[in-house]
Amino acid sequence: MTEVEFQIIKGVGFVLALMLAIGLQWLRPHTAVAGSWRVNASLWAANAAFVGVVCGACACTVSRWAGAEGIGLLNLGGASPWLAIPVSILGLDLVSYAWHRANHVVPFLWRFHQVHHSDPDFTASTSLRLHPGEILLSLPLRLIAVAGIGVPIVGVIVFEVCFAFQNWFEHGNIDLPARFERQWAWLFVTPALHRRHHSRRHAELNSNYGTIFTLWDRRLGTFGPSSSSVSVRTGLPGAEQALGPAAALTLPFRTRLRGE
Ligand SMILES: [Zn+2]
Repeated sequence: MTEVEFQIIKGVGFVLALMLAIGLQWLRPHTAVAGSWRVNASLWAANAAFVGVVCGACACTVSRWAGAEGIGLLNLGGASPWLAIPVSILGLDLVSYAWHRANHVVPFLWRFHQVHHSDPDFTASTSLRLHPGEILLSLPLRLIAVAGIGVPIVGVIVFEVCFAFQNWFEHGNIDLPARFERQWAWLFVTPALHRRHHSRRHAELNSNYGTIFTLWDRRLGTFGPSSSSVSVRTGLPGAEQALGPAAALTLPFRTRLRGE
């Protein structure tokens, strides 16, 4: 797979995931809320220009290099694709969990991650609201993880597409049918679980760090149950007024907001 093919598959997955999330928000909305599309899409555009074009397929390049050099656990062990793909998804999701948790614990990292949490609304567009600094800081770790695990290119692309679907879905202003929600939450993060993570309240803000699987939160003591019937006040104290794009970009250098 070439870097261009990698970017195309990633892009198609991104758009399909967006359509699913928007469709579910329209069919089964949790609350009547418009979302902060203007600022969130502006941040996404800045990130796409800043990081996406320059390093959008870096994981693909690192994966190919690690495979050719025989670097990483899966390459060293000569794992078959049937083992390598699930291990890659689990491994990269665990790294994502650890990075997200570090973003809440390390004050310097929180300065950038607070921009994501400063959205007073909780809708699919919130998933786009990431400060370029957070993405830049996470990039070396993600690439080291690909090389360290020895993720094959197909493992990277399957993970990226699953991650995009879950990321759009779990930020959705979506109410799921109660039975389906309970069953889905056994394995995967639901919008209600992640809505709890976007609560203004300190204890809830520091729970449910997972993106794809709930396994890491359950096993590592950070799982907080929630359901669509629970209403959560989202955002951060001090960011009640929707920030404009410039204010969101300069937020890490001005203040460090906290949960209540
Ligand atoms: Zn967070």
